[in-house]
Amino acid sequence: RLSADHFMLFYPYARREDALGTCGAAAERARSITGNGKPLALHIGLCCSEDAPEARDVTELTDRARIAQRESRTRGIVPCAYSQPMRDALLRRADLERTMESALEQGEFFYLIQPKYDVEGRRVLGGEALVRWRRPDEGIVGPDEFIPLFEQNGFILRLDEFVLESACRDLRARLDAGLPVVPLSVNVSRRHLHRDDFLPSYVRIKDRYGIPDGLCELELTESIVMDDLGGTFDIMEQMRAAGFRCAIDDFGSGYSSLNVLKSLPADVLKLDRGFLLEGTSPGTEETVVRTVITMAKDLRMDTVMEGVETPKQLAFLRTTPCDMVQGFVFSRPVAPEEFYRLLDTGK
Ligand code: C2E
Ligand code: MG
Ligand code: MG
Repeated sequence: RLSADHFMLFYPYARREDALGTCGAAAERARSITGNGKPLALHIGLCCSEDAPEARDVTELTDRARIAQRESRTRGIVPCAYSQPMRDALLRRADLERTMESALEQGEFFYLIQPKYDVEGRRVLGGEALVRWRRPDEGIVGPDEFIPLFEQNGFILRLDEFVLESACRDLRARLDAGLPVVPLSVNVSRRHLHRDDFLPSYVRIKDRYGIPDGLCELELTESIVMDDLGGTFDIMEQMRAAGFRCAIDDFGSGYSSLNVLKSLPADVLKLDRGFLLEGTSPGTEETVVRTVITMAKDLRMDTVMEGVETPKQLAFLRTTPCDMVQGFVFSRPVAPEEFYRLLDTGK
């Protein structure tokens, strides 16, 4: 026994599968023991010595078993065997976390803007700010690698505000120069919604740069909205009252229904790119997309189709009342200077 309810076991095995099997059986047996009406949950991580040939002593072996044990917790109570990629992921996380604060101070984070075009691709009607991390010695890291981590450790709160502030600063420069502007959206993480100071601090940033109402758009994903319909609807109403446009991001990626769509207090509906991927029965996806777009239009929402990649998808969208297209078919996310050049020249 190491401490409290932590135990360690060393034992010989003939084959790797035997070791895993023994652990599985132990976890299964524990489940039949109940205390306080709850089954006993054993979280087992094991490290087979052949999976860690570099481990030189007991400490290094048990460290690795602990990594596997942590992984088993995230997967429920299935025993989990250590592997090198598991450790690599952990070290990567630790490295990103150790450097994130100084990276923000050193200006390693920046944002790109992906244009939203009309369906003909002639005019830029809006843009979405998307964050990137330029790491010295490594190059540019995309948000999929660090956003989930920052959502866990809370750093996303500061990063999202940084992106909003950067976008507002660039908008201000355009306004001061008397140049045309279009609404810009930023992504809002679910972490913000549980904080009382979320909207006030967003309003402070918008006001600091004197951004007129309707130019800043906040994107909330469908999954955030579905988690707590009533609560999120209230916040969306407050956002709009404070002069922000409100967009639903990734609509259709989860379990929303047309019923929810009917009551969404949103200005913009962004349809998830999953809609465009070939389904099993040809034609049904198109019917669904057309229905959702038509319904959103009837409800006075602007519609954006995300992730449009091919001329064929584009041709289909031109037969619907879709307002905007955001996808590689017209443009990837680009540097703000390039975005504003596209806005000014149209090409
Ligand atoms: P999202 O908000 O749904 O952003 C759209 C993503 O789709 C972007 O990926 C964009 O590059 C990608 N995309 C656009 N057109 C196409 C296309 O035609 N094909 C394909 N395959 N992809 C396309 P990106 O920039 O890697 O961002 C990924 C996600 O990370 C975003 O999804 C958003 O959820 C999150 N994210 C990005 N920036 C921020 C941020 O500043 N704050 C927060 N909280 N999340 C952010
Ligand atoms: Mg988005
Ligand atoms: Mg999206």
